[in-house]
Amino acid sequence: MATHEKVDVVIVGAGASGSVYAAVLAKAGKKVVVMDNGPDWQTSDLISSDIWGRRIKPAGGPFLLEGKNPFGYVYQAGWGVGGAALHYFANFPRLLPNDFKMRSEHGRGLDWPISYSDVAPYYDQVAQDVGVSGDAKAEEIWRPSGKPYPMPPMQTFRNGEAWRKGCEAAGIRLVPAAVGVNSIEYKGRPACIYDGWCHVGCPIGALSNPLVTYLAEARQAGAEVRPFATVTRVLTSADGAKATAVEYYDANKQKQVQEASVVVLAAWSAQNPRIMLNSATDKHPNGLANTSGFLGKYLTAHFASGTSALFDEDLQPYMGTIAAQYFSYDLYDKNAHKDKGAFGSTFIVAGAAQRYSALGGVANSRLNLFGAELAAFMKRAARGYTRLNAFAEEMPVIDNRIELTSDKDEFGMPLGKITHSFNDEAVALFNANFDKGVEIAKATGANEVWPNKGPMPTIHLMGGTIMGKTAGDSVTNSFGQAHEIGNLWIAGPGIFPTSGAPNPTYTILALSLRGAQQLAKDWGSVAG
Ligand SMILES: Cc1cc2nc3c(=O)[nH]c(=O)nc-3n(C[C@H](O)[C@H](O)[C@H](O)COP(=O)(O)OP(=O)(O)OC[C@H]3O[C@@H](n4cnc5c(N)ncnc54)[C@H](O)[C@@H]3O)c2cc1C
Ligand code: SF4
Repeated sequence: MATHEKVDVVIVGAGASGSVYAAVLAKAGKKVVVMDNGPDWQTSDLISSDIWGRRIKPAGGPFLLEGKNPFGYVYQAGWGVGGAALHYFANFPRLLPNDFKMRSEHGRGLDWPISYSDVAPYYDQVAQDVGVSGDAKAEEIWRPSGKPYPMPPMQTFRNGEAWRKGCEAAGIRLVPAAVGVNSIEYKGRPACIYDGWCHVGCPIGALSNPLVTYLAEARQAGAEVRPFATVTRVLTSADGAKATAVEYYDANKQKQVQEASVVVLAAWSAQNPRIMLNSATDKHPNGLANTSGFLGKYLTAHFASGTSALFDEDLQPYMGTIAAQYFSYDLYDKNAHKDKGAFGSTFIVAGAAQRYSALGGVANSRLNLFGAELAAFMKRAARGYTRLNAFAEEMPVIDNRIELTSDKDEFGMPLGKITHSFNDEAVALFNANFDKGVEIAKATGANEVWPNKGPMPTIHLMGGTIMGKTAGDSVTNSFGQAHEIGNLWIAGPGIFPTSGAPNPTYTILALSLRGAQQLAKDWGSVAG
């Protein structure tokens, strides 16, 4: 077992959140090593093919999945440098002020220890850093004003325009979606060519993945990226007060130790608590920073009610990006569907490009189609199909959790088990959003409309290392610093106490920037 020379900071995970920490700390002059369990992907590796795209999907030991609504991996995990954010869709909505005070305002869920105004300046900064296209002024019908986005909105296409009529009839206002994609050339990266291959990684760098944004800055400032380095434990000092190193397995599956003054865990919401639980010692018998007993608890997911519309006209559904053309917060009030027994926010997106291969994804909602009928449907759908999606929020509950099991992966690390069930209010919200979606779709003038109703999906895993005020009510503070181990920081959606309804990455980047800047500022008192 080799021991590497001590560095200032080791960051576990080279995805969305880890890359921000790497950039900020490397630029602050720190010696940074970023470890990732997968390959060191380059933009030039990316090929616009669904078969090739399987290479960047999650790998390694699986999570065991239990509960009424077991978690899926789609829309959340990745493998290799860039993480899930290498092949995400780059919808960049933000949380709204009503997301931060759930317990105070509604007597349920959890409060964040910070409010929207603490995060807002970082949303503005991230937009400049990575490049966001959109119309900030238009969004300000729903949120406090901020800075304009650095690029104008993306082009729109017939498959997005089709929803405007329906939404208007149903009283839903749509505005140009904020996306992390270049509508024009930005910082030397080209404008998008609207070929809709974002879900397997954008080969030209028009989409703001970590490789072309924060991680590129980190590398330029001297950060080392160490691929095929699977971290299994954070090692701590004898008194338990400090993190001292990480234990990992290298490309040859040999155990290694990397000492560091600061450890940042940015390996995604499911892996971070798994590593922390596996790092238990006599000083931290229930896993690191777990006095509250909340490590691995309060997992949340988004779910989406998708509504399909089939037109006779040629909508060119393959045009655009996989992100939305339009979005709406008109159903964002937590009680918007109270009359149907539902609670929680809804966030609507419309106009994502649909590749022909994606039509397979509607199969669960059209079980009646076989043989010649199915072939005829596919032919029509290739030209006339479009979909509206309503993302929604579930409340954090302690029973939705990740734990270790007695089964082990190839490195002898216990597998994680994720237990997850939606409660009745979430199910009611899922159903209410289908009713609304069908109402909107009918008003578009489509030839045929139907709800894509299959098993309730779990999209975007959040929670598990939630932030709060004290070690008694949470795992980290609002910067992601573990309450009980000052030089251990956690990054990513795991620190969200509540999920809101919008896609999480804009908030992940904003919170990571806030955390990383605080860490750089407090370095002298934090580093071990
Ligand atoms: C298909 C798809 C579409 C999406 N679309 C959107 C969208 O439109 N908008 C949005 O906001 N979000 C979207 N997301 C979600 C978004 O990508 C994630 O929320 C975000 O990337 C999470 O950031 P993270 O830093 O926590 O994890 P990641 O970006 O996944 O990074 C984690 C990294 O840790 C590494 N890792 C894991 N375990 C270990 C270990 N033990 N040792 C070392 N390294 C490890 C992984 O290889 C990975 O590189 C999408 C995701 C997918 C998959
Ligand atoms: S649609 Fe735009 S962002 Fe998506 S892969 Fe193509 S060029 Fe890249």
